[in-house]
Amino acid sequence: MSGNSALDLAATVGSRRDEPIDVLASPADLERWVAECDELPDRVTADFETFESALSLREAIYQLALDRVFDRPFDRGSLKIVNNTAAGPVPTIKLSDTGLHMSGDLLAVLSQIARSGIAVLADPHACLKECGRAGCTRIYLDRSRGARRTWCGMDECGNRVKAAAYRARKRASTAPEGRGGFRH
Ligand SMILES: [Zn+2]
Repeated sequence: MSGNSALDLAATVGSRRDEPIDVLASPADLERWVAECDELPDRVTADFETFESALSLREAIYQLALDRVFDRPFDRGSLKIVNNTAAGPVPTIKLSDTGLHMSGDLLAVLSQIARSGIAVLADPHACLKECGRAGCTRIYLDRSRGARRTWCGMDECGNRVKAAAYRARKRASTAPEGRGGFRH
């Protein structure tokens, strides 16, 4: 999770240009995803209608994030979806000794996500990047110093790329040895 619920929602589809892998296949998946997201209420119930709204919000956020990555004007239809969703009621928050507690139904959660999306997409200093692993297609927020991060996540992509590069180097360095011995 990136710390921005809107980008996290957009990242629930991976490998968008090849064979998309969608982790939100049903309303129950969405309920689980919301519960796992730190910035959202622990418990919501999703019916099919709000599930569909969540998916269209997700695609709109992805489209706008992609527009930001490529530094082009925002897609109008996606702007409308995100702005309309953000205008709805938001979750309530309460402070207690154990911290902040957020509650609200799924529609409020979607408004909250849309607002997080607007906040990051409007921030001129937010460095949005597409993951450097070919085929991943996830968009993430690079908060590292000097914005030098290359992958959406180390576990998901960074280590995979590094392991593949290591195997390739190993192949390249062992290959000529079979013919070796000339220099001695
Ligand atoms: Zn990635």
